[in-house]
Amino acid sequence: MEASPPPRTILGRYQLTRFLGRGKFAKVYQARSLVDGATVAVKVIDKSKTVDAAMEPRIVREIDAMRRLQNHPNILKIHEVLATKTKIYLVVDYAGGGELFSKLSRCGRLPESRARRYFSQLVSALLFCHRHGIAHRDLKPQNLLLDAAGDLKVSDFGLSALPEHLRDNLLHTACGTPAFTAPEVLRRVGYDGSKADAWSCGVILYNLLAGHLPFDDSNIPAMCRRISRRDYQFPAWISKSARSLIHQLLDPNPKSRISLDRVFDNRWLRDKKHV
Ligand code: ATP
Ligand code: MG
Repeated sequence: MEASPPPRTILGRYQLTRFLGRGKFAKVYQARSLVDGATVAVKVIDKSKTVDAAMEPRIVREIDAMRRLQNHPNILKIHEVLATKTKIYLVVDYAGGGELFSKLSRCGRLPESRARRYFSQLVSALLFCHRHGIAHRDLKPQNLLLDAAGDLKVSDFGLSALPEHLRDNLLHTACGTPAFTAPEVLRRVGYDGSKADAWSCGVILYNLLAGHLPFDDSNIPAMCRRISRRDYQFPAWISKSARSLIHQLLDPNPKSRISLDRVFDNRWLRDKKHV
């Protein structure tokens, strides 16, 4: 873990107060607005490290995607984007509850009622994105944050594709994190981003309920073989209706895989008896 930097002010507007984490392209800090005192998170992107010809469109895409998705309670809001010659600053909501998966690693696994709440917030946020023509495509633990009230905030649309980036209605860029990535994405064949997100939701739901991943192999061809054989086991404590939903999400064939619209009416998700 990196030491917190000395208090630093960004363009006279925000004071960085605490280092929160580091991603592939940015460092994230908690900060205080010097205008209204609000607590925010600032993602600092160093142009000299990232903005070569390949990176700049990626950053612009992230900002664009987030700006189009401002009105959903489970999507992290972007406040503003500031830039200097050397840095880009993305000012976003501060997620005071940290990463959902830090919580999971503390608890081991979640009871079905808790998992249901997070999962339905995730599906609701994704359906909203998909209705705006945007698939997330990089759903992974680090991008599922919690606010101070414990509600899920989906963050990081850095890899999401905008409608104008769709070719023949299919996406062609391999991206994401292997253990959470749909098989058709790993195989680098054209794919439907919303079905790829549905797969990742299946991995996330399994992970929340089981406390471990269904498929986890650093050897991607070996992992793909396990995926296509549906080679995973359910721990005994997972209910029948949750198993059935996970089974439908972890369908290696995107055409027959359940879509997220249908997930929302699923029996397990609608089951309020354990809430
Ligand atoms: P990638 O580079 O692929 O995006 P990442 O998701 O790990 O990887 P960032 O999105 O840069 O990287 O975030 C780094 C870490 O900072 C996150 O894992 C999270 O713990 C923390 N973080 C990010 N945004 C916020 C936020 N708005 N509020 C609180 N913590 C955050
Ligand atoms: Mg991220």
